[in-house]
Amino acid sequence: MSTCDPFSFNKRFSHIYIEASARPYPMTGQILDAFPGARIVSIDSYKEVFNRSRQDRAQQKKSPKLILAKKAPPFLYPMSYQCQTLGYADAVYATPALNCVFSCDYCFLQGMYNTANIVVFVNCHDFFRATARAVKARINRKHPLLVSISYETDLAALEGFTGYCSQWIGFAKETPGIAIELRTKSACLSRIDRKATDQVILAWSLAPVSAAGQYERGAPSPIKRLEDMARAAADGWRIRLCLDPILPVPNWQEDYQNLIKDVFARIPSEQIRDATLGSVRMGKTHVKRIKKAGYRFNVPHQLPPKKKREVEDHIYRELAHYLPEEKIGILTP
Ligand code: SF4
Repeated sequence: MSTCDPFSFNKRFSHIYIEASARPYPMTGQILDAFPGARIVSIDSYKEVFNRSRQDRAQQKKSPKLILAKKAPPFLYPMSYQCQTLGYADAVYATPALNCVFSCDYCFLQGMYNTANIVVFVNCHDFFRATARAVKARINRKHPLLVSISYETDLAALEGFTGYCSQWIGFAKETPGIAIELRTKSACLSRIDRKATDQVILAWSLAPVSAAGQYERGAPSPIKRLEDMARAAADGWRIRLCLDPILPVPNWQEDYQNLIKDVFARIPSEQIRDATLGSVRMGKTHVKRIKKAGYRFNVPHQLPPKKKREVEDHIYRELAHYLPEEKIGILTP
């Protein structure tokens, strides 16, 4: 079953917690309609459930609960130095949802939150109003403001019951001076909006099947993701390809070479707007926190400098067979 289908989450969302202030929003009603069997629990603040201490995050991951809440300001955060802005002078990110339905072994969220429960902030128009203000206030008027909207979640994987991506895309189309990046490991982005615009960067994270099977539990296979990318490209979308993080499987050279070959066999290079690559880069303290929370973190959190260069150079060279240099970005800490 597709992760775009709200009913694929029925078992996971046996309970829905609703913050009192989230009740009046249309998205709350729409989500409740999508899960008629869920037990509804009223709460005063999402933090009562989300930030509770001594939660067993690894256990909760098997059956996460959904929390509907109203986001308080700030609605936008400056983009971290680790993030690739690829040509955009001003870049921010928004968090319309927190946590992810997928379970990648290397996910930084595991060391960030005490819980595997998922928060959806239902006051979408507050995000849009704040973003419209930020677009007007941006310093560099020659470039659009880049807004990454799938930053502490995989927003497209929640689309079946939130409709958030289509709302953001609609907002972007009506807002000159904005570019939004929607990054996903789902296989449903192409179905969200078939009318392409350069104001929205549809970005897929891809890994070879050998790596995804081992490290990206719960996410659609790279084959399905690639099919989705190809559908979007056929509809005129220019795609961002994210080979990030590069996963150190035994035959990584050959596997990544074949993956890149497959991508460009399915998608004409002019439909790839750019590509990013980067090896795993996570601080030791964060990794310790992830392990303490009961997760396996069986990828090297950082490669030794020589190995890192070797890996990145190799992937860069492979991409350079198909893309000009200025379209390839290497993510560095
Ligand atoms: S898809 Fe992204 S956010 Fe979701 S678990 Fe994987 S790395 Fe984390």
